[in-house]
Amino acid sequence: MATLEIRDLHVSVTTDETAKEILSGVDLTINSGETHAIMGPNGSGKSTLSYAVAGHPKYEVTSGSVTLDGEDVLEMSVDERARAGLFLAMQYPVEVPGVSMSNFLRTAATSVRGEAPKLRHWVKEVKEAMADLDIDPAFAERSVNEGFSGGEKKRHEILQLALLRPKIAILDETDSGLDVDALRVVSEGINRVREGGEVGIMLITHYTRILRHITPDFVHVFAGGRIVESGGSELADQLEEHGYVRFTGKQEPAA
Ligand code: ADP
Ligand code: MG
Ligand code: MG
Repeated sequence: MATLEIRDLHVSVTTDETAKEILSGVDLTINSGETHAIMGPNGSGKSTLSYAVAGHPKYEVTSGSVTLDGEDVLEMSVDERARAGLFLAMQYPVEVPGVSMSNFLRTAATSVRGEAPKLRHWVKEVKEAMADLDIDPAFAERSVNEGFSGGEKKRHEILQLALLRPKIAILDETDSGLDVDALRVVSEGINRVREGGEVGIMLITHYTRILRHITPDFVHVFAGGRIVESGGSELADQLEEHGYVRFTGKQEPAA
């Protein structure tokens, strides 16, 4: 079993030589097999949490710790984090012109698994995973994310997740910009990955609608750069009904 432990994490961003604290003491433990929904209003710091764990240079950890099975994640390079079993799907996935989807995936799988997947198995694996996600086989030869629609990028995130089989996956607003059908396909993809019971998932979302397809084991309300309440999936139902007003004092629709 794998465990990601975030302890009293404080993160700052510096703009115009002024540092601003964005995360103010995040505590969270995710074990493999568990799905944790992180829900909160816009600007509460959810993406900052995923960037900090991913090792984005703009986000400075000023105190606290992040460990994966006791290993210090914050000491690792971005590559080492992936090899250690962390998967970080960014809210705005990058485009990689000139690198085909299939090459990108095979390189990533080689890096994470420590050896190149056998070509024949690999081609079959990719084909099946693409079919599961209703991705046109022609996409395998297209450049990574170049000219992909929002929904196509999200499907490719989940394709990577399905093929790389990380220990812990952080999915930031995987539901944003998806129409009803794409949301269902992407959610089913995440649920298939969950079924294996080996992956721990941090599912970051603003809206409750993805949680109608994916029932989280735990829900955490994020506000003002920290977790202000934790509970089971019923907490998402309360948010759906009442929004985040109880946590922010500001009226905002939850869905
Ligand atoms: P969320 O994902 O919950 O909407 P973010 O983590 O994106 O929230 O942002 C939290 C706060 O941190 C916001 O006030 C945002 O403007 C600020 N912030 C995030 N990233 C940066 C950055 N790179 N530069 C300056 N401010 C940032
Ligand atoms: Mg945001
Ligand atoms: Mg965000």
